[in-house]
Amino acid sequence: MGVYSIGVDLGGTNLRIAAVDSEGKLLDKLTTGAEVKRGRDFVITEMCNAIQSLVAKHRDSGQLAGIGIGVPGFIDMDTGTVMRSPNLPDWVNFPARQQIEQKLGTTVILENDANSAAMGEKWLGAGRNMDDMVIYTLGTGVGGGLILNGRVWRGMKGMAGELGHICVEPEGHPCGCGSRGCLEQYASATAIVRMAQEAIDSGNAPDLTEAARGNVEFSARGIYQLALQSHQSARRIYQRVGRALAIGIGGMVNALNLPMYVIGGGVSSAWEMFAPAMFEELKVRSSIYSLTAPDPANPEQKHTVVTIALMGSDAGLYGAARLPMLETQPARSSAPV
Ligand SMILES: [Zn+2]
Repeated sequence: MGVYSIGVDLGGTNLRIAAVDSEGKLLDKLTTGAEVKRGRDFVITEMCNAIQSLVAKHRDSGQLAGIGIGVPGFIDMDTGTVMRSPNLPDWVNFPARQQIEQKLGTTVILENDANSAAMGEKWLGAGRNMDDMVIYTLGTGVGGGLILNGRVWRGMKGMAGELGHICVEPEGHPCGCGSRGCLEQYASATAIVRMAQEAIDSGNAPDLTEAARGNVEFSARGIYQLALQSHQSARRIYQRVGRALAIGIGGMVNALNLPMYVIGGGVSSAWEMFAPAMFEELKVRSSIYSLTAPDPANPEQKHTVVTIALMGSDAGLYGAARLPMLETQPARSSAPV
């Protein structure tokens, strides 16, 4: 019998739970609405019930390595406390890990959702052969994760990797984190819609104004469609996304000289609209990048690769399942769930 683990991806709208074996094969998957409005106790109870039902179903499938749970927000890894979460409003200074462990009667690994996504891409996606990589997830916000020596780099308290809150415009748009000009304010889906609205308000984007009046969906995806149709104002917004990413990534290349930077999340599907501006700007912002950019004439050389994620919305789910498999220390308790 092989080893398998349970991965949980708790988002603001969906709760997804999977049983995954040590080769990365999906054994089972459950998706339910994360009814965040009904409060954290309700969400935790739903999650634990679903975990228990999957474990019961797979009792004969192999040995359970553990349970990994990806949660959006700042987590104090020492205590398993969710300090603050943008998508789970009542999870403030909430000892989530302790509550979950009490309900399940066993230990779990609680991890930031972007760190889980980084691990998923490292295990089965774009970073498959990489020991060191960085991931950016461009969604409602911008998440980040670092993998160093094959492991999530958590920092002192488990809060490392907040790459969406690295400043790319010193006097830029205010950010929910309290700072201003964060990457999240220029490269998230929310930012794309805001920048489109700003362009309309400035009176310099007649094509976007027309679109906003018409039936085009006024979303990051809708603006991407306009960019595809050669609407210049929509294209300029995605070029700005690319330049902002280049400033953020360029700083990381300069600091860490890692071989791979992966861009995932919903906005990454607009890759061809922001990538040309991003690569152009990267060469300016990081001389290390320009010295190590992929060179078709020298494919054997070590290169800095900036690439699109491959796992889609499953990265966090698989990454969460991978975490217990990497634990070297014995679990604090091994009672069955
Ligand atoms: Zn911020």
